[in-house]
Amino acid sequence: RLHVLLFKDQSEARRIDRMRADFIANASHEMRTPLASIAGFIETLRGPARNDPAAREQFLHIMQNQTGRMARLIDDMLSLSRLEMKPYLKPGARVDVKQVVESVVDSLGPLAKENNLVIERDFADGPMEVPGDRDELYQVFENLLENACKYGQDGDRVVVSIARTDKAPQPGIEVTVRDFGPGIPEEHIPRVTERFYRIDSETAQSRKGTGLGLAIVKHILTRHHGRLSIQSELGKGSAFTVYLPAN
Ligand code: ADP
Repeated sequence: RLHVLLFKDQSEARRIDRMRADFIANASHEMRTPLASIAGFIETLRGPARNDPAAREQFLHIMQNQTGRMARLIDDMLSLSRLEMKPYLKPGARVDVKQVVESVVDSLGPLAKENNLVIERDFADGPMEVPGDRDELYQVFENLLENACKYGQDGDRVVVSIARTDKAPQPGIEVTVRDFGPGIPEEHIPRVTERFYRIDSETAQSRKGTGLGLAIVKHILTRHHGRLSIQSELGKGSAFTVYLPAN
């Protein structure tokens, strides 16, 4: 019965238990979908499609996509659980935000090209350092830029800007990732950082994703005492702004 004493606040403990249970239920459901599809195609390949090379090729292609989807889900879930297992950041480390964003932009070149987009940089002069974990901040900008490339308008551009800000609560760095895609309906904006939340639009459903990207972003920013703000207009595009305190 000792564990009861460890929780000062029973309702908080219950809330966390419920969140865990929800997460497991959602995660299981998300993994079952590709698995069911793969199982179905195996059946078909053994039966009706056994002697049809064209159908076989098509089904194998779908199965490959579904295994990719499972792999992305597992990677994102591992990222989240790793973040939860080390609740505090290592103190002392400083990160050059410009350099991190620069390397994310470079690594996303092929994805941008695939979607017929150009990534433009608008970086203010001078050093832009914040305390934090480089790998985690890399993941923040990677997820935001990946979304901008995925959901952005074909043949358009994505603009990433970095500037210092003196706004409250204390001086810091602001990074904005702007796209000119379909935008996000207002009622969905507060929910897009929830785990597994994906907007049920044709664009969102046709893009590869797990619904965990922005949940990971939010988690990492909270650890950095940072903030994420989202501005979006339907048909015009979205701007995701990350604020990180400089000290
Ligand atoms: P996903 O893996 O689905 O991209 P995210 O957590 O990164 O998951 O995003 C959640 C949902 O928010 C997406 O499925 C999409 O519907 C919406 N979304 C995210 N970024 C954008 C964007 N730049 N433009 C339009 N919709 C977006």
